[in-house]
Amino acid sequence: MFDKILYRIIVLSLLISILLPACKSHSDPIEKILNEMTVEEKVGQMVQITLDVVTKGKDIKSSYEPVELDEYLLRKAIVDYKIGSILNTANEKALHLKEWHVIIQKIDSVSRHETRLGIPVIYGIDAIHGATYTAEATMFPQQIGMAATWNPELAEKAASIAAYDARSSGIPWNFSPVADMGMDPRWPRHWETFGEDPLLTSVMTVAYVNGYEGRDNIVNNDFRMASCLKHFVGYGSPVSGKDRTPALIPEIELRERHLPSFEAGILAGAHSVMLNSGLINGVPVHASKEIITELLKTELGFKGVVLTDWADVEKLVKRDLVAEDIRAAIKLSVNAGIDMAMVPYLYEEFYSELLSLVKEGEIPMTRIDDAVRRILRLKSQTGLLDKQVVGENSGAMTSSKEHEKIAYHAAMESITLLKNENDLLPLKPGTRILVTGPNANSMRTLNGGWSYSWQGEKTDEFTQDQNTIFKALQSRFGESRVSLVEGVSYHHEGQFFEDYDSGIDKAVAKANDVDVVILCLGENSYCEKPGDIHDLRISPLQEKLAMRILSLGKPVVLVLNQGRPGLITGIAEKSDAIIYTYLPGNQGGNALADILKGDGNPSGKLPFTYPRYTNSLLNYYHKPSEADIGLMDAYDFKESADILFPFGFGLSYTTFIYDNLILDKEILGMRDTITISVDVSNTGNRVGKEVVQLYSMDHFASITPDVKRLRAFKKIELAPAETRTISFKISAKDLSFINSQNKRIAEKGKFTIMVNNLNKEFTLSESVFF
Ligand code: BGC
Repeated sequence: MFDKILYRIIVLSLLISILLPACKSHSDPIEKILNEMTVEEKVGQMVQITLDVVTKGKDIKSSYEPVELDEYLLRKAIVDYKIGSILNTANEKALHLKEWHVIIQKIDSVSRHETRLGIPVIYGIDAIHGATYTAEATMFPQQIGMAATWNPELAEKAASIAAYDARSSGIPWNFSPVADMGMDPRWPRHWETFGEDPLLTSVMTVAYVNGYEGRDNIVNNDFRMASCLKHFVGYGSPVSGKDRTPALIPEIELRERHLPSFEAGILAGAHSVMLNSGLINGVPVHASKEIITELLKTELGFKGVVLTDWADVEKLVKRDLVAEDIRAAIKLSVNAGIDMAMVPYLYEEFYSELLSLVKEGEIPMTRIDDAVRRILRLKSQTGLLDKQVVGENSGAMTSSKEHEKIAYHAAMESITLLKNENDLLPLKPGTRILVTGPNANSMRTLNGGWSYSWQGEKTDEFTQDQNTIFKALQSRFGESRVSLVEGVSYHHEGQFFEDYDSGIDKAVAKANDVDVVILCLGENSYCEKPGDIHDLRISPLQEKLAMRILSLGKPVVLVLNQGRPGLITGIAEKSDAIIYTYLPGNQGGNALADILKGDGNPSGKLPFTYPRYTNSLLNYYHKPSEADIGLMDAYDFKESADILFPFGFGLSYTTFIYDNLILDKEILGMRDTITISVDVSNTGNRVGKEVVQLYSMDHFASITPDVKRLRAFKKIELAPAETRTISFKISAKDLSFINSQNKRIAEKGKFTIMVNNLNKEFTLSESVFF
């Protein structure tokens, strides 16, 4: 009897499992399209090309201006080769909204009306601090500056405006945010990250995904676009500090530091992921089935599109030497799990080889179907399968005053005051000012790379009506009181770092005539590989300018307008005040001038550790042995923890004190939470914003614990004399780490909670795996 029932159950479940997918495939529109597609159409969907390939131009790598699509080349790519996606701008230069509309409408129309199944091409772009390649768009601080605001609501708002501006251009897919860790200040993409901390990076990554996609991830309308978490995974810590060079990352480290921000972004619903262009432990990520299929798609359950980075399949042959030819490289990376290849030029070869690999059974059809299903789903979710991409009101709000205000606000909250001796700042009204240094009068340096062009060198063409630091200061303090002598200047296009003496003597002479010198140092704009450096120290000429000015004994405000923290140790000691602007975007000059004048109160906090020495590049969450722990008293022990400014540091024009740190329990159970509260008071006489940061320290563990870890934070605003009680909830999971078996665990024992200068202990009663 029992056997009979069991038999029936088994037969029934077998029938269900056979019939259900069949029913599903009839009702699911994506499966319906997939069923109708030829293998050629499927392979074409997996190919992404760059815009220059289909424009009129002297070759496939450039376009004539004004940019115009080439009817023949466009049809060849879309109709004959059935390509599924186009990216980038033409000539690496921003286009106007109207130009975008013409280009996108044409691409959309050819793909929609002239291909057999009418599957629209999906256009993707790097709209990374605003819609980078749309001339009219609002430019926000780069990610590193947005991280310095420690204000995820503001970051979400900024990202939503970037989405609006890009969407208004007709583009529904954004290759942003960067969820990589900014752990190495030498790395030229450090400023594209949210800094060195996994929690802050995770929170900001989620804020950006929410901003681009909306919290419900419905991205089929004029206000939203699909995001792309990049560059999965471990891109941020190359051994040499140079872009796309090999990284050595043990699994324990990969999971502890590099994975959480991607996990958070995936949980927040990001629609796509772009891969890391580099190698980890000798294996190019684009060839790693372990990373793409096992970790990303299976373990993390990522259901969206996995996109390669620029020409990275080709690099498996030409750079990494793991494939003997492009055919072998395609086989390797597609079988490893990529869904779409950013080819971006030689697509005919890519398409033909991929097609033949599938036909010859070298790549299973199931793998192709997995990739194309993901691509079609993205097209459906972005609304492409239902409607034309450029809506009627496209761009109505682009470059509105409202958007500019938010960009100003973001720049204001990012700018970080690192030193203010004798309250030199804010400057007194009537102060006579010299603005000097190569960053004093440049919109290019305020924006950095990915601004109107890849390297940012075309920024000044697009920002004639915006204020540089010098212009903003003149508008606040009066033209006659503010003078400019750069002293050291940058070369123009092409040479990214070299600066030259454009009049150091003149700058020094002028400094004698004024009350205060605003010394604007940093770097010129750069991006990716061209931004590699041999030396983290600020340029010798800028050092010379600084030292000569500082020797005059005049008050000096050092303004650092740079992405990564160039070493300034000697200059910093002698400067009276130091302000870090990061790459604050077009509103950066205005926000800085208001801070200098006292119309704004700085509230940014460093999202990374500012190093003091070239050989001591350390993250705040290092192991105890990086510092002298008192066992070698007789020797001069060189601590790597000897840094210039700590992670999380930033001053205000007002003062805050912390009191009454209270834990609601002394013992925390494994499924419980502990509530931690603290009173924060504004004891100065200005309204100010403070970032309340909560750290934990593990007293001992099965692997050496980090000296401390950020576990929670909150940005608050307090009026003078106002006190607010801030509370946080912490669970065992918040205290967990990856152990030597690469498993996440919270181990029982004592912890110390630290908030500002206060600390309290508690005990986790049991160990628990997550
Ligand atoms: C970068 C990516 C970017 C892509 C497309 C690559 O060189 O590494 O971050 O999204 O180009 O522009």
